[in-house]
Amino acid sequence: VDPHSGLVTSATDSISGWAGTALGAGLADRTGLPVACDNDVRATAGPELAALADGRGSLLFAAVGTGVGGALAVDGRMLHGAYGIAGHLGHLPSAEAAGLPCTCGATGHLEVIASGPGIAAHYERLTGAPVDRLETVAARAAGGEAAAVRAVTTGATAAGRALGGLANALGPDRVVVGGGVPRIGPLYGDALAAAFAAELMPPLRGLLPEPPLLGHDAAVTGAAALTTTLPLHHPGALR
Ligand SMILES: [Zn+2]
Repeated sequence: VDPHSGLVTSATDSISGWAGTALGAGLADRTGLPVACDNDVRATAGPELAALADGRGSLLFAAVGTGVGGALAVDGRMLHGAYGIAGHLGHLPSAEAAGLPCTCGATGHLEVIASGPGIAAHYERLTGAPVDRLETVAARAAGGEAAAVRAVTTGATAAGRALGGLANALGPDRVVVGGGVPRIGPLYGDALAAAFAAELMPPLRGLLPEPPLLGHDAAVTGAAALTTTLPLHHPGALR
């Protein structure tokens, strides 16, 4: 989602015909109200950025769930970038995903190995046995099954390495890892934190990945605040 044009600039097949939708102007027309719009992960990260001291903080926010999304803020400003693409952490190259096809059309991207479906698919490759969901892999890992442990820690390590490298590039005051996957247990969180720490340059040592401040309604809370920071789209623009 590009908050400046108000357009959905890119989308997967999860919602057919979504790419190209004039989200801001269309919603303004239907409500008769000015509208600000952004993607869900940046909306979720907004309150995390606002909570940093003095309004000049830098934030690295990752959302690891059915995909791997993210938001980047530097010196108090959320980054959107060309086409609103900034923050798509799932499409960073990842050594752990080498050769595996990604939903974006490239190969070897982080999302393929670190998302919930990515971890489940890796378990299937390791065992040759189909598995219905990530929670099944997590339960088997908690029981000590080696392939399940490896699938979980490989995904966590890939995410941790990518976030550590990004931390070196951005200099965040805070690193937040949200989404459903981190909630599967300490095996995931510990492996992610270890891989993250191993990448950090000396001034950043002491930086730890943290859980989000807000709960399940964080995206809605953040979306409600977008009108204070983003351009507004007004009714009538489509006519
Ligand atoms: Zn990709």
